[in-house]
Order: sequence, then C-alpha cells, then structure tokens
Amino acid sequence: MKTLLPTSTAGSLPKPSWLAEPEKLWSPWKLQNEILIDGKQDALRVSLQEQKQAGIDIVSDGEQTRQHFVTTFIEHLDGVDFEKREIVKIRDRYDASVPTVVGPVSRPHSVFVNDAKFLRAQTNQDIKWALPGPMTMVDTLYDDHYKSRKDLAWEFAKILNQEAKELEAAGVDIIQFDEPAFNVFFDEVNEWGIACLERAIEGLNCETVVHICYGYGIKANTDWKETLGSEWRQYEEVFPKLQQSNIDIISLECHNSHVPLELLELVRGKKIMVGAIDVATNEIETPEEVASTLREALKYVDADKLYPCTNCGMAPLPREVARGKLQALSAGADIVRKELAA
Ligand SMILES: [Zn+2]
Repeated sequence: MKTLLPTSTAGSLPKPSWLAEPEKLWSPWKLQNEILIDGKQDALRVSLQEQKQAGIDIVSDGEQTRQHFVTTFIEHLDGVDFEKREIVKIRDRYDASVPTVVGPVSRPHSVFVNDAKFLRAQTNQDIKWALPGPMTMVDTLYDDHYKSRKDLAWEFAKILNQEAKELEAAGVDIIQFDEPAFNVFFDEVNEWGIACLERAIEGLNCETVVHICYGYGIKANTDWKETLGSEWRQYEEVFPKLQQSNIDIISLECHNSHVPLELLELVRGKKIMVGAIDVATNEIETPEEVASTLREALKYVDADKLYPCTNCGMAPLPREVARGKLQALSAGADIVRKELAA
C-alpha cells in the first residue's frame, strides 16, 4: 500500500560548496570536464542521501546536475544562440539578459536521461524529475525566429514530450513541469499554455505534475510579492482549466503565502502537492507549523490526494537550513498521518 501523505520537494536542493558556489542561482561550476561529471554524480548521491535521511518519500536528484531549471535544458537544444543575447523582461517582472531563438528548435540528443538513469540506479523509492514548462521556456528567451510565443511554446512542448518519454523509459515515476509563468500570463495560459502542457505529456503513462509558484526567494520575487496585496488570487485564473486538463498533480505554494487555500476547491479531484515549507526565509518551520498548513489544505484536498511538499526549490538556501526544512516537512506530515489514522 502507498504511504498516505507522501512527501517530496518542488525540485532543487543546495549544491555542495566544492561543486558550485553556495547560496546562489546560476552559480558557476567549480570543476571541469570528466571531473565535473563525477562531481555532479557525487553531489546527486549526497543530495539523495539527505532526502532519505530526512524521510522524504518521493526523492529527486535535487537538480545537482543542472545550473538552472530552465537554461540548462535549453542549452542542449538546437536553434538557440547563447552568444546572441538580448535584454527582455521576464515573468513581466525583471530585466534579464537572455539567449536568442535564431532558427527551428530541436533536441539533437536527450538532455537529462543519463542523469535520471543514474538516480534510478541509486534507489528503489519513487523518483520525480523536473523539466521546465513550455511557457516558462518561451518567457526566458528572445525569439527572433517564430515571432509567436504560442508557436515557439508548441515546438518546445514537442521537444519536452520526447525527453519525457525517455525519462519515463528510464524509470522515472513522476515527471514535473515547472511553470512559474502560469502565475503571470493568465490569458495565455488559458488560450494555449495548458494545451502546450498537454502536448508535452501526450502518451505518457507515468504521473505528471505542473509546479506553479511565486518563485525562489530572490529580491525581484519578494519585491513583486509586496505588490500583490493581502490576498493572492492568481491561482483562481488558471485553476478551472487546469482542473479539466490531463495533468495528474498540481504543485502549489501554500505556507506563509497569501494564497487563500479555499481556491484549492477549484481543482478538487486533482492530486495536490501542497507547499508547506517557505523557501524565501532561512527560518526553519516547526513540524507543528507544517502540520497546520496540511490540516488547512485537507479541508479542500482529499487525504489520499495530498502530497506535502516545499513551496519551490531550495537551491539558494544554506545547506543546513534546507536539511532542517526537509526534516520539518517529514515530521509535520507524520503528525497529520497519525491524526488521520486515529
Ligand atoms: Zn517554484
């Protein structure tokens, strides 16, 4: 029988300081060539061990083999020129220097499949693998070829589908698509964003997740959150259509955020990864705080569909903080499991 309230993380975990500079996004690698490949695999082993030790049920690679959740995937594609950079406003929020789409995009070879096979060989637990979502990929580039966000997203969806099918064949149990852009471009999400996501999961038998969050705890995001007012109702715009979609699981930010949890009623029937750990603070939640977020979510999510999780990735956090948060997540889920069993 499956564990009730299986715990997992939204994705990234801190890297060891010998692999990349800690507490930083896009942190450059400290190793090169063959040694880098070895180093990434060792870091993956450590990250997996830390998740196991904390009692996390659905484990991941902690994104130890990638520099960034969107860019690393795109780096492996044809049709994108990383030397040709333009400044664009991403997530409608902050300026960034991004690569340019210069021709038809394609995936000449698999991107993460070997890493996923390596993770699969280390554990018998369920494993989850994260990929960027098509809309978020489009939003992280300058497009000088398709000149249509929708057309480019559709091409990315086809590429993601190829990668996802190979990840499934490699033994990945759950494939997650990170779509922070779903919290910003509501009209596009409803017009083509969800359709592209469904194209990306076409023909898959494993479980699929869409992760929609308010981002890492970086300044551009915390400043943006300040402007959102006391009630964050962004999810309300996309939930009705997501409820109708083929995606199995929706991963959301809940703890310490201003998202009214009654919005979860709009996706009733879906499995929900409930973010019960805040990634924008170094303060470690108590198990009781985690339990209280989960209890609140249980009002709107059936117990067999609730997956305790983190709000977002923890890559920029100090390692001991991330470890403490994993333990709190596990202990908090355990409190609620016991209550449900009683
Ligand atoms: Zn996130």
